[in-house]
Amino acid sequence: MSEIELIIDLHIDSRRQGPGSEKDTLNALNLIGLSLDPEFKLADIGCGSGGQTLTLAQNLNGHITAVDLFPQFLDELNEKSKKLGLEGKIKTLNASMDNLPFKPGEFDAIWSEGSIYIMGFEKGIQYWKEFIKEGGHLALSEITWTTNSRPQEINDFWTREYPEIDTSANKIKILESNGFSLVGYFTLSEDSWIENYYKPLESQFGHFLKRNENTDLAKKVVQDYRSEIELYMKYKEYYSYGFYIAKKTE
Ligand code: SAH
Repeated sequence: MSEIELIIDLHIDSRRQGPGSEKDTLNALNLIGLSLDPEFKLADIGCGSGGQTLTLAQNLNGHITAVDLFPQFLDELNEKSKKLGLEGKIKTLNASMDNLPFKPGEFDAIWSEGSIYIMGFEKGIQYWKEFIKEGGHLALSEITWTTNSRPQEINDFWTREYPEIDTSANKIKILESNGFSLVGYFTLSEDSWIENYYKPLESQFGHFLKRNENTDLAKKVVQDYRSEIELYMKYKEYYSYGFYIAKKTE
C-alpha cells in the first residue's frame, strides 16, 4: 500500500476523519438558519465517511451531494446512510474538489469540514463560489491560529504542513474580499479534537499496524500522527479549527 492508501486505511473505521462534532455541525447549520425546504440543496465536499453528512441529513429535508476523492469513504457513508434510512437524502459523488461537475448557482449551501485546506482556503472559496446561488451559504472548518503570536516550534510545524494557516481575522478578510459576508464564526472545542478525532484514531493504531504487518511505512504513518497529537496537546491554546459561516453577497 502507498502512504495515502495507508492513511485511508487508518481512518476508515473512524466516525470522523478530522476534528469536529455533531454539536459543531448543528451550530454552523443554525447560523445559516435551519431549512426545512425539501428543495434545499447542499454539497458536502471532502465528506469522508460522512460524520457531518449524516447530521446534516438528519436536520434538513433537502438533498445532499456528498463528495470525496476516495470511494472507500463513500462506501462507508452509503452503508451508514442506508442503516439510518437517510439514503433518499444523500447522494455520494466520487470526484475531486477542484474539478466538480456542478452547475453555476446549483446549491443553497456548500459545506466543508476539515477539507478545504487540500485545495487551499482562498482557491477553494473562489472555485466553489460559482456553484452557490446568490444569497446562499458557505460553511467551512479550517485550521486557524487562535492567538496573534505563538512559540516557534508550533509556528514552524504548521507553516510547513499548511502555509495558509492564519488567524481568523485574516481568513475572514479572504472571505470578504471574495464576495462573502460573515454570518458567524466559532472555534472547535478541545473535545472535538481529542474525544472525537484523536482518541478514536489512537485506538486504531494497534489494529492498523497488525493488519499492515508492521511495515516501515505503516509505522511512519502512525509516528506522524503521534507527533501531530503530541504537538496538539502541547500547543492547543494557540490553534484550533475555526468554523466560518458566510453568505454569498456578490
Ligand atoms: N469532512 C470529514 C473528512 C475530513 S478529512 C470530517 O470532518 O470527518 C478530508 C477529506 O477530504 C478526506 O475524506 C479525504 O478523502 C478527502 N479528500 C482528499 N483529497 C480530496 C480531493 N482532491 N477531493 C475531494 N476530497 C478529497
